[in-house]
Amino acid sequence: MRRYTMYVCEKCKKESSDINEIKLCEAKHYGLNSIEELEEYDLLVKIFDDTSRILSCAQNPELLQRQDDALKELMNYEKEHNMKL
Ligand SMILES: [Zn+2]
Repeated sequence: MRRYTMYVCEKCKKESSDINEIKLCEAKHYGLNSIEELEEYDLLVKIFDDTSRILSCAQNPELLQRQDDALKELMNYEKEHNMKL
């Protein structure tokens, strides 16, 4: 028996065994032009989520500033790339 993996676009449910084809499909839905841009965006989302999670454990001014910076960077990226969210 053989087993294979299929990837599914979270936006349009397109399926492919090629992960890059699906990553690019998702990038296009957001108005991005490449997998690299999508990965860059995903990293900004992760940094914002991580700082938010830390904040929920320990409120302090330095962490609040880091979360604020992460949110600004994320919003700037969305704006610069005219992302459709
Ligand atoms: Zn799609």
